Amino acid sequence: MLGGDAVVAPGPAASAPPTEEPVPDRAPDVPPATASDDGPLPPPGLVYDPPPGDLFATHPVARAGDLEAVATLVHACTRCRLCEGRTHAVPGEGPTDARLVVVGEGPGRTEDETGRPFVGKAGELLTRILGAIQLPREQVFICNVVKCRPPENRPPLYDEIAACLPYLHRQIELLHPKLILAMGGTAAQTLLDTKQSLGALRNRVHRFRGFPVLVTYHPAALLRNPNWKRPTWDDVRIARRLLDS
Ligand code: SF4
Repeated sequence: MLGGDAVVAPGPAASAPPTEEPVPDRAPDVPPATASDDGPLPPPGLVYDPPPGDLFATHPVARAGDLEAVATLVHACTRCRLCEGRTHAVPGEGPTDARLVVVGEGPGRTEDETGRPFVGKAGELLTRILGAIQLPREQVFICNVVKCRPPENRPPLYDEIAACLPYLHRQIELLHPKLILAMGGTAAQTLLDTKQSLGALRNRVHRFRGFPVLVTYHPAALLRNPNWKRPTWDDVRIARRLLDS
């Protein structure tokens, strides 16, 4: 359960408004990442290990035997007010054997229209970020903390996150990934059940139910503030090394 320390304080991504800026191909001052980048890996960070049954023992998703079953439940879900304004729920997408799970905050307008995660300008940037570490998007499972679009792209509220979290927990449990990349403050704080800022959470290898978690900026935040590109590239290079280790 999202308990005492859990948050919904919006991180930098949560506060990033939609932007119409053209997406640059790549920051000109940032080299492509390679698996050969070396240096020490980040130190251990937070450990969040809720008992497996505590969050959704009575939730129907507990009986979902695969990702498709989770998606079916999400499409029919009316457990919070976000169902009222959605065009499509956005459960997430990617292969069942994905080693990397990317978790964002929630669907935006384009995602709501298409039913697919990260398909707007921020999604295009995410695809390029993954490509720069030689990770085709098709090999990654991509999803969000909440599966329906909050109105006006506002951050999801505490009760909306709490209602939706069983789906994310079950997806991670079914995927058993080698690494989770939490993009933006909401994803990081929710997965790690903490109020620490995104800046404080970066550059450490956290654990969610034993799965390593890295924290970085949300692509939408990068569109708004290009100064965050450099640290993001640093983070994804670390992600590549953890996946290769
Ligand atoms: Fe259900 Fe999550 Fe959509 Fe709320 S946001 S209606 S909990 S799927």
